[in-house]
Amino acid sequence: WSGSFTDKATYDWSSEEEEPDGSARPIQVLVVKDDHTFELDEAALSRILLAEEVQDREVVAISVAGAFRKGKSFLMDFMLRYMYSQASEEWLGEAEEPLTGFSWRGGSERETTGIQIWSEVFLVDKPDGRKVAVLLMDTQGTFDSQSTLRDSATVFALSTMISSMQVYNISQNVQEDDLQHLQLFTEYGRLAMEETFLKPFQSMIFLVRDWSFPYEFGYGQEGGMKFLEKRLKISENQHEELQNVRKHIHSCFTNISCFLMPHPGLKVATNPNFDGRLKEIDREFINNLQILVPWLLSPKNLDVKEINGSNITCRGLLEYFKAYIKIYQG
Ligand code: GDP
Ligand code: MG
Repeated sequence: WSGSFTDKATYDWSSEEEEPDGSARPIQVLVVKDDHTFELDEAALSRILLAEEVQDREVVAISVAGAFRKGKSFLMDFMLRYMYSQASEEWLGEAEEPLTGFSWRGGSERETTGIQIWSEVFLVDKPDGRKVAVLLMDTQGTFDSQSTLRDSATVFALSTMISSMQVYNISQNVQEDDLQHLQLFTEYGRLAMEETFLKPFQSMIFLVRDWSFPYEFGYGQEGGMKFLEKRLKISENQHEELQNVRKHIHSCFTNISCFLMPHPGLKVATNPNFDGRLKEIDREFINNLQILVPWLLSPKNLDVKEINGSNITCRGLLEYFKAYIKIYQG
């Protein structure tokens, strides 16, 4: 299949969660349209979250959020490999195997501000014996003008509200801009939620791509934490605005962490014919991918979504999604 999204046949087809051959695919459940209105594909979302096997399971909702063309889909395809291999040692796949999933066809490359959900919800047995449902989300936005920034902030707020883990995918460094955007998203999110004594959101992971100062802070989670500590430090002589951004971020999330990823190599970054095969990805990147993905997704690390201190099921998440969307539409 190689049609475009404006194609009528394709459009009709997008209400189905599976390819004709039965395989899963990304479903655009939320779109921000050109007139800045939000459209939720409630039917598609219901079909995914109310599927018989998952609807009453507690849900782990993982979102990867960030601007376009920063390697989100590429990463998520590896997350899918891990989920489909059920955390097996061999999850990474064969050297010559093209990467498929979020990025495997032109359609998912179109630059739409909104949320895509993988049509298959994974059932995972946690070491404590609980079976949980794992939902993967791709949240995309643009930040190039005031109006797109506002749309993106809303979308990011929504995905932060409904996820138990938000992976904030950013390029090269954590800039003051990235922190300000994050403050805006979480401010939008907090406004829409009930006031409680609990922190409103769960885990926030700053995922820095193309990190190029490993001699200063090493790749991975440990270097990431040290780096982030430094970036998020509040000090007396800082401008008040900088202090406030940092206080705000600390007050919003129960867990904040950071992972520094190396550059994947020139073939990945520049070759238009690159199809995701491991053979063409830098070893250093693969090594860190093998740490990052299990760190995010291994059964023991999956945290169930909580809202006001209660665990949420897939069915519950659907209700929250609908309720939150109404607030922004209103
Ligand atoms: P998305 O729009 O954020 O989902 O980005 P994609 O995953 O579609 O990737 C956009 C482009 O960046 C593709 O050409 C990828 O091969 C490339 N890419 C993927 N990961 C990385 C990375 O970590 N660093 C760099 N520099 N490029 C990457
Ligand atoms: Mg993408």
